Amino acid sequence: MSIIAGFEHFIRQDEPLAPLTWLRIGGAAEYFAEPTTVDELAALVRRCREHDVAVRVLGGGSNLLVRDEGVRGVVIQLGAAAFGEISVKGQAVIAGAGAKLGHLISASAREGLGGLEMLVGIPGTLGGALHGNSGNHGSDVGQFTHGATVLARDGQIHQRKREEMAFGYRQSSLDELVILSAELRFEPDDPMQITKRMQKQWIIKKSHQPLAHENTVCAFKNPGEMSAASLIDQAGVGGTRLGGVSLSQRHANFVVTEGGATAADVLRLVDTLREQVLDRTGVELRPAYEVW
Ligand SMILES: Cc1cc2nc3c(=O)[nH]c(=O)nc-3n(C[C@H](O)[C@H](O)[C@H](O)COP(=O)(O)OP(=O)(O)OC[C@H]3O[C@@H](n4cnc5c(N)ncnc54)[C@H](O)[C@@H]3O)c2cc1C
Repeated sequence: MSIIAGFEHFIRQDEPLAPLTWLRIGGAAEYFAEPTTVDELAALVRRCREHDVAVRVLGGGSNLLVRDEGVRGVVIQLGAAAFGEISVKGQAVIAGAGAKLGHLISASAREGLGGLEMLVGIPGTLGGALHGNSGNHGSDVGQFTHGATVLARDGQIHQRKREEMAFGYRQSSLDELVILSAELRFEPDDPMQITKRMQKQWIIKKSHQPLAHENTVCAFKNPGEMSAASLIDQAGVGGTRLGGVSLSQRHANFVVTEGGATAADVLRLVDTLREQVLDRTGVELRPAYEVW
């Protein structure tokens, strides 16, 4: 049986991934699936396991570099409405992993639930944020997460309680194949005050990162208490350029690309920077983004 037999209504072949990532470069997915229900998703994951086919999950593509040759196997995106629902019960917000982080922040603020507004301006989905414990200024998504529902590689669904999850700097123990949804809890606060903090945070964030039209990815994780951007500046390598790939004028820790740039160029530039920063400061930087 073909891998897609019976799933034709939500799977496409040879789907370009570049338009689905913030870097807007890289090749196609052999199969690209947008299941409309959890049952369809689970059935596809089980089929892939039977056929030994690789499965990857794409969120908003803001922390991802797809290689020029593209990816074999199935790329799943939780873009359907069933995966993006957000509901509020008292101090708890339950959200699908496909929900945009920005929508979750606005919904919580509207309900007078404070905390997550410090993460405003971080692109992508809740699933991507939970996978890498995204955060800003000492706050991260993990600190609010009280439970999660995940789908394992065998197609089984599991619940993870707070005590079964661990979140560290840009990492989380939620490493099952698909994060389906999560429950986050917040403190009640005045919606006006939350909105003010959100606006302030938004202005700070926007003034320090590449502009919306730029093709970009955050290059390195901050090592310990140091900032990767200041290490790049200290090493004097902020002006490094390779083909159509360079570092942002607005924030030295963002790679930006222009016409003709390839994923291979990005990998080479990041590796060159890593070597130069190590050479000149003695600190080894690690890439922040994932490579497919
Ligand atoms: C302009 C800009 C600003 C940024 N600012 C910040 C910042 O301030 N702080 C910060 O922490 N990051 C920041 N980032 C990085 C990025 O936005 C975050 O890491 C974001 O949370 C990634 O989410 P995503 O949905 O785009 O994930 P993707 O890039 O699509 O995927 C990243 C990883 O998450 C996995 N994943 C996605 N969804 C799921 C799921 N449902 N189940 C299982 N795995 C999943 C993918 O398989 C992949 O391994 C920034 C990026 C950009 C481009």
